[in-house]
Amino acid sequence: MGCCDTPGLMAIEDALATMLERITPIQATETLPLAQALGYVLAEDLHSPIFVPPFANSAMDGYAVRLSDLQSDTPLAIAGKAFAGQPFIGEWPVGSCVRIMTGAKIPTGCDAVIMQEQVQLTDAGVVFTSVHAKPQMNIRPKGDDIELGALVLAKGARLTPRDIPMIATLGIAQVRVFQKPKVAFFSTGDELKPLGTTLADGDIYDSNRYGIKPLLENFGCDAIDLGIIPDCPDQLKATFLRAQQLADVVITSGGVSVGEADYTKDILAELGEIGFWKLAIKPGKPFAFGQLEDAWFCGLPGNPVSAFLTLYVLVQPMLAKLAGHSEWQAPQTIPAVTRSAFKKSPGRTDYQRGIYGIENGQFVVESTGNQSSGAFRSMSLANCFVVLERDRGSVEIGETVQIELFNSTMYA
Ligand code: AMP
Ligand code: MG
Repeated sequence: MGCCDTPGLMAIEDALATMLERITPIQATETLPLAQALGYVLAEDLHSPIFVPPFANSAMDGYAVRLSDLQSDTPLAIAGKAFAGQPFIGEWPVGSCVRIMTGAKIPTGCDAVIMQEQVQLTDAGVVFTSVHAKPQMNIRPKGDDIELGALVLAKGARLTPRDIPMIATLGIAQVRVFQKPKVAFFSTGDELKPLGTTLADGDIYDSNRYGIKPLLENFGCDAIDLGIIPDCPDQLKATFLRAQQLADVVITSGGVSVGEADYTKDILAELGEIGFWKLAIKPGKPFAFGQLEDAWFCGLPGNPVSAFLTLYVLVQPMLAKLAGHSEWQAPQTIPAVTRSAFKKSPGRTDYQRGIYGIENGQFVVESTGNQSSGAFRSMSLANCFVVLERDRGSVEIGETVQIELFNSTMYA
């Protein structure tokens, strides 16, 4: 099969561009306690209301000194103590030092903190003879980490476990974030049975919803599971109507192909508008995108690898835009040398499942084996996609291919 055998298939890049062009970010915001804001997208720039640290403090347990007092070898008396949370108060006579702990406020007049390991304690006082003291040594200046008013995170940043404690250091208890996109999803197919039931002849378990839900949640969406809907036009229509009331986006799996029980596309045409259908991607060709009266629509193919993969490759960027996550970046692609052969016909861009490793500083990749769109084990074993260009044919061992490393949404 050559390119000319797949006329009319839309290129992935064109499909992505169309979706991104049409989607506009959700504007509704909410204010959340910081501890509940993980995974949400900031709806405003965050500027620091304080200096961090708020005061110059000691980086070591040791002795606060005035460098002028270290000119002679005379031992220094200890004038008092400074602990974290309990600053030194009182007189600090010339010729004395202050015992100081990590995090304690630097006493006024102090030039340096000398580590306790570098001094000797004698009956006559603290001896600093072997110390090479430099001005401001072991002192963390006020605002060393973050200046008052500094932009710490921009609107559109999705809050990670690294951001939350940084915001906490600023004393910010609540943040204004965009509401998460609501995504309703359901599986279609007379053959699909829920887990925990016995399969009749011809039945299979519905596994797709078990991949769609965690991916949507990892993308930063509220996932609304509407269950399994049989291949019955009336029930499908009723579910579409209900789903669009509940959500910003409706996602289905199955029923978008050209079989006699594939009703999804016809119902979409009746209730809304088909943006595009059928892409030059393998697996995942029958992917459909469009608009219902009250929601966006993405129709994933039923085959388990196709459904999961198109959700990740095609729907994820669109949901990032909808969520206002303006810093979102597509997963990175890097060259790797093949350690196994990959079968392919020209015509569509292949997303084969691969396992990459690094040998002598060079990325290498091998196939996960059976690449059937129904064989989900290939997805479970993989740690990357092997993205084979549309016009490319089969790949031999030792050739260079592009691999796309999974982003964090593929992990727990
Ligand atoms: P369809 O797109 O509805 O023609 O389905 C294509 C293939 O995927 C068929 O073999 C279906 O049985 C299978 N399939 C569809 N939906 C699911 C699902 N939710 N879980 C597992 N397999 C499915
Ligand atoms: Mg079906």
